[in-house]
Amino acid sequence: MSEDESAGPRVTTEAVGDLPVAVQVTGHTSPLAGGGDTAWSGFTGAAGECCVVLAEGGPELHVGLGPEAHLDSETVHRAARTAGRRLVQDIPADGPDLVVGVRLAADAEGSLGLLPAVGAVTAGLLEGVHSHPAADRLRLHLTELPNDPGVEAAVTEACAMAQAVGLATELVDARANQLTPTSLAARAERLATAYGLEFSCLDEATLQEQGLGALLSVGAGSSEPSCLVRLAYRPEPAGGDASPVALVGKGVTFDSGGLSLKDPSAMVGMHSDMAGAATVLAAMTALRGVGAEAPVVAYLPLAENLPGPGATRPGDVVRSLSGKGIEVVDTDFEGRVLMADALTMAAREHPALVIDVATLTYQAIIALGPEIGAVVGRDAGVAERLQAAGEQVGEAWWPLPYATRYRSQVRSVAPGADVRNHPGADSGRAITAALFLGESVPEGIPWAHLDMAGPAMTGSGLDARATGFGVRTLIRFLSQHSAQATVEETS
Ligand code: MN
Ligand code: MN
Repeated sequence: MSEDESAGPRVTTEAVGDLPVAVQVTGHTSPLAGGGDTAWSGFTGAAGECCVVLAEGGPELHVGLGPEAHLDSETVHRAARTAGRRLVQDIPADGPDLVVGVRLAADAEGSLGLLPAVGAVTAGLLEGVHSHPAADRLRLHLTELPNDPGVEAAVTEACAMAQAVGLATELVDARANQLTPTSLAARAERLATAYGLEFSCLDEATLQEQGLGALLSVGAGSSEPSCLVRLAYRPEPAGGDASPVALVGKGVTFDSGGLSLKDPSAMVGMHSDMAGAATVLAAMTALRGVGAEAPVVAYLPLAENLPGPGATRPGDVVRSLSGKGIEVVDTDFEGRVLMADALTMAAREHPALVIDVATLTYQAIIALGPEIGAVVGRDAGVAERLQAAGEQVGEAWWPLPYATRYRSQVRSVAPGADVRNHPGADSGRAITAALFLGESVPEGIPWAHLDMAGPAMTGSGLDARATGFGVRTLIRFLSQHSAQATVEETS
């Protein structure tokens, strides 16, 4: 299924007769790597290394995977994505359909196993060709795969993941004047229609009426109205009555810092501060495609953080939906403030568990570097399952503790306030951010917080681009959660 746009490249595994192999994903021990043929001279089979050779059937693009000892989903996915980009590099924007054979060399799955390798290759290739104008004319044919009943499902999941990643990166890369809270909500509604999701959206008047003062405080200085999108996925036919998984994604379409204004250099790229919302929205569009068996609800709090008239002042106390007063010490710590109300809404759904996703703290990047997301679990089980799902699809997450010893850092002494959005201390801020969010998730509801401030983007400054990080982790987690919930119900 697709929105109003093109269907994108197609992937098949059925036999199509003699087809020249145009892409070979090559294991390090492949006899081709470093072979004596002059066409291969210099090709070492290093991860992501590409080599084009003129074979009998036509040009072949080979991509290396590096040493087998390092063969995991992330390596294979990255190499395949590089191959996808190389594949379409010289293809003109228009022309006839292109059927491209794709073969995994005999040793390409290594210790990874066939199905994870097929999934990583398929998703990576599709992500690599995604934004190319010729992508719609591509038909990737996976050849010479062993007859395994799981292959079809692995390919289906990979296609759904790649399409969702493409959607997320497109949304995150859109500039703040191209994607406002209002237009992002409208896009979510169109996607909901296309992918069979329930959609509703609370506008500013309704947010006011219902008491979501924390969310409203973030967009108060912008002429762009804030809103809260709710999406719901109901599986058919079974599982519809089970407790849903609830997702919350931070959707700040531009973060200037508000009156606690950022430096101009720190403001570059702040159109991407809605990556959490984009990740959640994109994952929701994939659930029917992968046959997720449990219901899922998603809340996207959308606002623009500007210092215009009406802006929240540093020190203001705002009333959240939970009834707690929040002292807004620093208006640049806005993500946790608008997510507080969305988490309260999510908790009212009587969820089986809650997961929130946000580009939240710079200190998550300091702790884990640019490529690893932080997972903070108040309930270790959810965090561990998220980390495992990430590892399976090639996205790296690492746990930080939900350290209640620091709870005093989020307590406020301001009149009418219970909590403050700034910890005061200048260390441990990825943790204290989670402690603040935890104030809005009642104890007893399993919950994990994902801070992907680092891996949401790749490159730096003006060249930074969205990665779609987190989308595949969520999709894999939600499809596994479904299966697990069903087992529990029937046992
Ligand atoms: Mn901020
Ligand atoms: Mn922010």
